[in-house]
Amino acid sequence: MCNMAFQITTSQENVNKDAVIGVTSIRSAFAHLEQISASLDIPCMSQRLYSKVHDKISDDLEETSMQTIKDAAEEERRLAIAEGEVDKNGTPLITVVVDGSWAKRSYGSSYNSLSGAAAIVGFRTKKVLFFGVRNKFCTLCNFSLNKNEEYRMAHRCYKNWSGSAASLKADIIAEDFQKKCGYIQFDIL
Ligand SMILES: [Zn+2]
Repeated sequence: MCNMAFQITTSQENVNKDAVIGVTSIRSAFAHLEQISASLDIPCMSQRLYSKVHDKISDDLEETSMQTIKDAAEEERRLAIAEGEVDKNGTPLITVVVDGSWAKRSYGSSYNSLSGAAAIVGFRTKKVLFFGVRNKFCTLCNFSLNKNEEYRMAHRCYKNWSGSAASLKADIIAEDFQKKCGYIQFDIL
């Protein structure tokens, strides 16, 4: 439209990865990437490749998150020891703040959200020491259920909860935390 020619360089490393990160970070998914690509007259990757790249990014994010969490826990531990806040066995005592949320507002009575998350934050550093997510619903599992057939394409299933939504936060904090973060022991006072 401006009668000028440009050469636009994208990421040299992996443009597919950048595209998936971009779409994911605006809480969107493949269908929207496909639409944007079509509007820009750029060929889009296949759904299968999108899923593959998405899974790899999820793994990388999880790994980075766990490392950040471990670093934060180590910092809390170090600060507690420096302040002399240890029990009689020399175990550092860390004060934390715990809270969680559901994807759907309960209004105090209707606890039927399909997804929830909870986190533990170090009081001193304000850094995340743990987080967990529980999902009662998976789009692909539900799709195969509705079709009354086994979904042929293998998928990474994020459904990891079948209990009540009301007990979801407590489960994340009590069980998941102890399972994944064995390097920290905690007492609820
Ligand atoms: Zn599933």
